[in-house]
Amino acid sequence: MRKVVTGPLSVVGQREFLKKIAGIPKRILVTGGSGFLGSHICERLISLGHTVICLDNFSTGRRENLSHLAQDPHLHIIDHDVRKPYLIDADVIFNFASPASPPDYQADPVGTLMTNVLGALHALENAKATGATVIQSSTSEVYGDPLTSPQRETYFGNVNTIGPRACYDEGKRSAETLFFDYHRTYGVKIKVARIFNTYGPRMRPDDGRVISNFVVQALQGKDLTIYGDGHQTRSFCYVDDLIDGFLRLSVSADPCTGPINLGNPGEFTVLELARMVLSMTGSRSRIVHLAAATDDPRQRRPDITQARGELAWEPKVMLREGLERTIAHFDERLSAAGRAVAG
Ligand code: NAD
Ligand code: UDP
Repeated sequence: MRKVVTGPLSVVGQREFLKKIAGIPKRILVTGGSGFLGSHICERLISLGHTVICLDNFSTGRRENLSHLAQDPHLHIIDHDVRKPYLIDADVIFNFASPASPPDYQADPVGTLMTNVLGALHALENAKATGATVIQSSTSEVYGDPLTSPQRETYFGNVNTIGPRACYDEGKRSAETLFFDYHRTYGVKIKVARIFNTYGPRMRPDDGRVISNFVVQALQGKDLTIYGDGHQTRSFCYVDDLIDGFLRLSVSADPCTGPINLGNPGEFTVLELARMVLSMTGSRSRIVHLAAATDDPRQRRPDITQARGELAWEPKVMLREGLERTIAHFDERLSAAGRAVAG
């Protein structure tokens, strides 16, 4: 029987975790390291004393995300497309390379599918050759438009294999299959996290995801665009919590292979989110309804019992607080961009 820990993390658990993650300095490869999540993990790993190799083709990521660390001798940035093989000596690999926002991943569906399948294959081959532990950033999208809620890791999902989201969903599902087959066949050390909608500083203002869209629209006095009736739900995890969960997973004792849900169980409709952003920004923007997105999941909420039990992890930043930080970040960025244009 797995021991299930509920409630706040114990002090001892936190201390043990910090000792493990900051222990012996490691060489850590982060694919997609210049993106939103990847840059946060690179930054955290460097602050803990590790050496980080960031592999990225800068398709949806931005060089500015790591520019504040450009002079740090512990960071190495390599321009590489993970659809092509690579061999890099590493103790740990975080495989983050893939577009993540629906407009980004639907802009080049074949490229998205291949990035996820070949990207997983090449990360696993690299791990097989070097003995590294490889951690996969999978997604709640493997559950598709779920027929059960909250979603537990044992749910097999409900994905339309031929719809416009399939390039991403099926790419991530195939990647999970490859991970477990490499684990069973070659003994590669794997850990698979299923990430639920995560937000925070360093999202691209124009990446098309709902939080960046609503916050930017509200700050610029533009209409907030709800796709469909707005009754669809999502659970939003603040980036710092997610990174903490990933780091815990990376040092978790085997056989914690996952798949394991990482997300915030608080569930909100898109309409509730729009109203919250409007009231928090004091914006006079209007809410408008546009056509619903094809195959848009109607509900999404993680069951994080497994993460609580195996990683002693749960999110600490609730939506209002995370939104406050995100709004402040975008406000600062948009003002700086405005000053640059005026200057
Ligand atoms: P992002 O678009 O900001 O970052 C993705 C990074 O991968 C970018 O730097 C991009 O340039 C790079 N990349 C894309 N294709 C590549 C390729 N072929 N070769 C090399 N680099 C490539 O997205 P994100 O939100 O930071 O997501 C990171 C990972 O987490 C993705 O794998 C995504 O599927 C997963 N994920 C994210 C969320 C979320 O809410 N943010 C939810 C579920 C899963
Ligand atoms: N959404 C919306 N308006 C926007 C962007 C997104 O109503 O401007 C909706 C979208 O249809 C979905 C939810 O918000 O129901 C979350 O969308 P996002 O693209 O952030 O993530 P995903 O669909 O991948 O969960």
